[in-house]
Amino acid sequence: MTQKGLFELDCRSCKNPILFTLEDLSRTVACKKCHKAYGFGDEKLKRQLKQFEGLCRQIQESKEILGNAAVAVTVGKEEVKIPFKLLLSRLQSTLDLQTSEGEKLVINFRIEPATQQ
Ligand SMILES: [Zn+2]
Repeated sequence: MTQKGLFELDCRSCKNPILFTLEDLSRTVACKKCHKAYGFGDEKLKRQLKQFEGLCRQIQESKEILGNAAVAVTVGKEEVKIPFKLLLSRLQSTLDLQTSEGEKLVINFRIEPATQQ
């Protein structure tokens, strides 16, 4: 089963969530509500989005082994073991990016099972 990675960006004008995939990076993505258009012509931005997708996928695919691993954290005199699973559930798949125009973008990523066509 293939899974589709979805990026989510809040529209800068109306805050409506805009969903797009890696394939959309080569075209313009428009807000469904206010029709503001977003282009991803910036090569650095594109590269970072691809890396971000790869990282999120890796975490997703490694869940099985990550579930058995833990990080030891020292709190005062005691050592506390925090399971990776817990850390991952807290870890928001959020990426802060800056476009070449200096605009700041906050992009969320999630993986959804591909819908059958
Ligand atoms: Zn909008």
